[in-house]
Amino acid sequence: MFENLSERLERSFKLLKGQGKITEINVAETLKDVRRALLDADVNYKVAKQFTDTVKAKALGQNVINAIKPSELMVKIVHDELTSLMGGDTAPLNLSGNPTVILMSGLQGSGKTTMSGKLARKLKSEKSKRPLLVAGDVYRPAAIEQLKVLGEQIEVPVYTEEGNKNPVQIAENAISYAKANHYDLVIVDTAGRLAVDEAMMNEIAAIKKAIKPQETLFVVDSMTGQDAVNTAKEFNDRLDFDGVVLTKLDGDTRGGAALSIRTVVTKPIKFVGTGEKLDALDYFHPARMADRILGMGDIVSLVEKAQQQFDEKEARELQRKIAKNQFNFNDFLNQIQQIKKMGNLKDLASMIPGVGKAIKDIDIDDNAFKGIEAIIHSMTPQERANPEIINGSRRQRIARGSGTTIQEVNRLLKQFEETRKMMKAATAMKANPMKMMRNM
Ligand code: GDP
Repeated sequence: MFENLSERLERSFKLLKGQGKITEINVAETLKDVRRALLDADVNYKVAKQFTDTVKAKALGQNVINAIKPSELMVKIVHDELTSLMGGDTAPLNLSGNPTVILMSGLQGSGKTTMSGKLARKLKSEKSKRPLLVAGDVYRPAAIEQLKVLGEQIEVPVYTEEGNKNPVQIAENAISYAKANHYDLVIVDTAGRLAVDEAMMNEIAAIKKAIKPQETLFVVDSMTGQDAVNTAKEFNDRLDFDGVVLTKLDGDTRGGAALSIRTVVTKPIKFVGTGEKLDALDYFHPARMADRILGMGDIVSLVEKAQQQFDEKEARELQRKIAKNQFNFNDFLNQIQQIKKMGNLKDLASMIPGVGKAIKDIDIDDNAFKGIEAIIHSMTPQERANPEIINGSRRQRIARGSGTTIQEVNRLLKQFEETRKMMKAATAMKANPMKMMRNM
């Protein structure tokens, strides 16, 4: 996401950097470039203009021209403005009420049903909520079925009323049911249409009025660019929703929606969807997003993702094994599985500063580990636990079994040995840095 915009912005700033002494004209030219880059990223015209006007006023106000490092100051000003354009602070979700009621709105195909499941899953695991999902789309049996399948996957019950064609009534009944059965979170999925229409708006407005949700979220596909912004406006005029959920930010969206919606509807983006899987949901952090747009990576989110997969007891056990040089292929496989759980590899790598642009055209898919996994799976339990015993004939057998070559097996074993040494050294260093230094 945002790759083109990032690249364009970086190029604009580079031009500024090349100038020995910059002038007001250089600043104006850079900002013209920035504006063009924003428009090409499908940012709303008015938003882009307002943005560059503000940046210009700030740049001149902070005396960019006489600054020691003008391009750095410009990047900082643009970063701050991008952050504020996207809402400044991360917007919290209102979880008051018992049960907390969240109403999902949006067009068909925006990712509403998927997001209902993702949210239930997230709040269940992070906030220990007991969610109930409600199938409010009475027109499409497939939609009810889809929600049921999602519910099963995340072990959250789905409230449905077969034969009842009144979604307002269903939503009200669901809340009574939740109260009676001690569910403390109710997520109501509603019917969407392919385009905004009066009947749909009336229906969702009626549901909102009847159930008075703590949060009405508007779900929108970020790939639809300017349309997303227009739809958001229409929904907001009718529903006065509380927050926006941008889905499909994993695709090659140009980012315009993320940058324009906040200004146009003055409602915060609360969540982003970054994939089809149920764990592909993140809180929206404007400053981190600005980092990514400016090609600065997003180390904070990367570390957070790692922490989510991090089990302290397991980590301590691992550390003990590394120290004793007992780290083996079972642990190695385990680590690969943990990394895979963190999400799409390319997305992860692009959170490392400077890497996003470098790997833009490289295809890193989740099969990257396949060869390694196949090799490890072809080892016997003894070999995995004691890699030392893997001699020449064993290597040949492993290569055959995994459909790889002996060179690939050798390479993995060598890498593994090096990793082991490095990890041991790093752990020793952490435990007793002075001793380690003396030994060195
Ligand atoms: P609804 O009609 O609004 O309920 O939309 P769905 O939840 O059925 O989603 C429509 C399609 O978009 C499905 O194929 C989903 O798997 C897909 N989808 C939803 N969210 C995301 C996302 O964040 N990223 C990607 N790549 N696909 C998504």
